[in-house]
Amino acid sequence: MFVAIRLKRLPALLLALALVLLSLLYLRSGGKTGGGTAEALSKYDRAVMIIDPGHGGEDGGAQTAEGLLESKINLDISLRLDALAGLYGIPTVMTRATEEIAYPEEANTTARRKAADQRARLALINSYPEALLISIHQNCFPDRRPSGCQVLYAETGGSEDFAKLAHELLCQSLCPDNRRVAAPVPDNIYLMRNANCTAILVECGFLSNAREARLLTEESYQIKISAVLLAATCQYAAQSDGMI
Ligand SMILES: [Zn+2]
Repeated sequence: MFVAIRLKRLPALLLALALVLLSLLYLRSGGKTGGGTAEALSKYDRAVMIIDPGHGGEDGGAQTAEGLLESKINLDISLRLDALAGLYGIPTVMTRATEEIAYPEEANTTARRKAADQRARLALINSYPEALLISIHQNCFPDRRPSGCQVLYAETGGSEDFAKLAHELLCQSLCPDNRRVAAPVPDNIYLMRNANCTAILVECGFLSNAREARLLTEESYQIKISAVLLAATCQYAAQSDGMI
């Protein structure tokens, strides 16, 4: 009897295992996305998940003790989230997909180039009023002890609920001892202050904490973060009338 049940279940188990392995292979090979570019989607056609890898180009953001830039870690996690969303047929738009950014010629100082990039990202984001925006960042602090994630939310409708859900799921999966809570985004974050859609900013962890910085550069940890953020997005969308 026991053997019969086990044999009966074997195909399903093998199928599940094969799907997991295929997902991992797909992500490890930098699999192409289901959405990816704005052009691939008809604007206003349906809601999308917008993934914003923070910083990039001349703006590297924070860095690890070894000098690895936040912009690169943000992009790596964002590309994994984009690939995973594509695998599940969820339409996405990325505000950047490489470390290089093409700045307008007339932007002749670093400050102007950064401002032009932020304006371009905002214009893209605001062309999808029904979107869910996830901006990916890493934290950094002079004290090396703090660790753990934190999710910040914009003032737009739904952002606080989305942030609380994402924060809770991230804490459960990655940092169960984390005492931080989801909080409003500071006033000086241009994209989050001006985006019209539901928007959260995810500080995945602290680059100033050596143990966490190491984790944040690991492929398996980045995939885990992506999977949790995708789960939070799907759960939030399902709770708010299936936007995605
Ligand atoms: Zn940042």
